[in-house]
Amino acid sequence: MTAKDSLHIALAGNPNAGKTTLFNNLTGAHQHVGNYPGVTVEKKEGICTHEGNEIRVVDLPGTYSLTAYSVEELVARDYLVNEQPDVVVNIVDASNLERNLYLSCQFLELGVPLVIALNMIDVAEKRGIRIDTEKLSEFTGVPVVPVIARSGKGVNELLKTVQKVSQTGAAPPRTLIRYGADIDEALKDLIPVLEEHKLLGSAYPASWTALKILENDEQIVAKVMLENMKVGQELVDRSETLARHLQDTIDAYPETVIADHRYGFVRSILRQGEVTRITDQDRLYASDQIDKVVTNRVVGPLLMAAILFGLYSFTFNWSGFLVDWMGMCFAFLGSLAESALPDGPIKSMIISGVIDGVGGVLGFVPIIMFMFFGIALLEDSGYLARVAFMMDRIFHFFGLHGSSVMPFIISGGIAGGCAVPGVMAVRTLRSPKERMATLLTVPFMNCGAKLPVLTLIIAAFFPAHQARYMFLATLVAWLVALLVAKLLRMTLLRGESTPFVMELPPYRVPTLKGLFIHTWERTWQYIKKAGTVILGISILLWAMMTYPGLPSDKVADFEAMRQQVVTSADKAEELLRIDQLEAEAGLRHSIAGRIGMSLEPISHFAGFDWRTNIALVGGFAAKEVIVSTLGTAYSLGEVDPEETTSLTDRLASDKHWNPVAALAFLFFIMFYSPCFVTVVAIAKEAGSWKWAFFSMGFNTVFAFSMAVGIFQLGTVLGLG
Ligand code: GDP
Ligand code: MG
Repeated sequence: MTAKDSLHIALAGNPNAGKTTLFNNLTGAHQHVGNYPGVTVEKKEGICTHEGNEIRVVDLPGTYSLTAYSVEELVARDYLVNEQPDVVVNIVDASNLERNLYLSCQFLELGVPLVIALNMIDVAEKRGIRIDTEKLSEFTGVPVVPVIARSGKGVNELLKTVQKVSQTGAAPPRTLIRYGADIDEALKDLIPVLEEHKLLGSAYPASWTALKILENDEQIVAKVMLENMKVGQELVDRSETLARHLQDTIDAYPETVIADHRYGFVRSILRQGEVTRITDQDRLYASDQIDKVVTNRVVGPLLMAAILFGLYSFTFNWSGFLVDWMGMCFAFLGSLAESALPDGPIKSMIISGVIDGVGGVLGFVPIIMFMFFGIALLEDSGYLARVAFMMDRIFHFFGLHGSSVMPFIISGGIAGGCAVPGVMAVRTLRSPKERMATLLTVPFMNCGAKLPVLTLIIAAFFPAHQARYMFLATLVAWLVALLVAKLLRMTLLRGESTPFVMELPPYRVPTLKGLFIHTWERTWQYIKKAGTVILGISILLWAMMTYPGLPSDKVADFEAMRQQVVTSADKAEELLRIDQLEAEAGLRHSIAGRIGMSLEPISHFAGFDWRTNIALVGGFAAKEVIVSTLGTAYSLGEVDPEETTSLTDRLASDKHWNPVAALAFLFFIMFYSPCFVTVVAIAKEAGSWKWAFFSMGFNTVFAFSMAVGIFQLGTVLGLG
């Protein structure tokens, strides 16, 4: 009936959005009514001519969603997938935008070439709803054409747009919408498997199939199973793990959470860009009422600062006794090993490498745990999404994108994240320059590994106001990250900003069980890392700090010195001093010591002595190691093994350290090269090692300049 090269379009939308009216308007008398093969759902087809070209038009059944729950929905989506119309015209009822755009989201997910026909604008206008179609088009990434199907107004423009879209071809599958950390992560697990095995590959985008599996879509699951039973079962198992996890933590099904996030996406489109101005108050949900206050331009940021400060106060005020207690435990273990083990390298390794090293990291578990609990509370209640929402505005100013906010928060923007998942989350950004700017600045956040170092230094040198300094450290991290981003966007990464949309899921009352699970999951990850990677690096660093050991003639020299002491009056004290000198000489002679000393001519400008350098070099392997290496470096040279003092006290009383040096050290730690794993992740995300090396070099030089500035200025001002 139709020429092969004629344009083929499908009209899709909610029931009563005006599809049939538009269809009649387009096709006039040239229509043909039948049924879809195999089902008794009405199929209308017709021809319309536009500027001399024939267009084949199909009126799809009206649906609210694209699940597998009803015949209409199945027909609609099977048609889109199997018949592959050149353009899908999504008819959206402008007077009922929120519910209509929910379906549009699902077309975006499916990645079909889309044009939104914004219908019934006459009705909307009568109700006082004004819609900024340009903004709507920016946020959804598809053309939006206002029409009045009943009178035919705008239809010509619509056809023009359709023709244009048909020429540019299908848009790639959209990754605009994020579904929350748990689901996003599950998607990330499923998509590569689907792609690798090319499951339903030719018909559906892998991201859509993955989403449907998580939604437990019977049709898609059955199709996948039919193609590959074994892999299909793996995918279903992963999906079930997610479902159980969501049940346990927030007492919701994956499909509910996905739907919530779609609605969140739609709502934020509607509100954020002032896409609509609705005078009708009743339609606001409770969540929206709360958000009016919580994300208010003035109240919002103040509340956010108060909550952040509250989080730190809570953490430092309530975890202190546990930290002390853990410290005592490790000190006890140390003295136990001291008295129980025979002298020798094994003893030194266990005390200096294992107990001081891993203990230094584990000692912070209470702080980490309290912090994670607070963050879980913010996250599970839905507040964290509001933080991201508010940061959007600021981010834009600094040349970043709204989607950059989550990577920052994941990397430790509030406290205690990790830059590796943060770097991976940068994938959601579509503009390469904004993505790169985000990629390079997320490692500036105070991740969970920097937290112990910050805590240690703050406790040693600024003990009076720990929460306040932690709060300041967070602000400084953000400020520096944003300024550097702006700098990059004005120089190396100059270019246009793209519009952003941020989903606001409804508020939920967190369940206690969910909070504990989230807290424990993250804490356990931290502990596991301390017990494995950190233990390994710690022992390696201990070895580097112990070997090759003093040459025998030097040992003999010290022995001779000891012999001379025998006659002296305060013998014990003198012997200890010699022990200390010998230990320090040993450390200087070691591999790590030589590295540390070779850096000293430069590092002393920032107030770092060679022992600190050892810790900083070790910190490149993993930032946690900074604390443990300082621990090892300062315990190797310890005067009196009986009197086991904490590292905090050791630093506070050491002659190389003072508040100015500590502050320079803090700044350096916060901004120098990302740890090794993050660098690898950056290389992977950026697609080249060039940027990974750039981030190592740039960050280190930048951090060092700041540290030097602080140290020199502070010393000149006599604050040290
Ligand atoms: P369908 O279910 O999507 O096929 O929707 P219909 O085409 O049957 O339209 C539903 C109702 O909306 C009908 O009463 C139409 O006359 C009316 N309608 C459709 N488009 C418009 C429009 O642009 N303005 C107004 N005021 N009414 C419209
Ligand atoms: Mg109809």
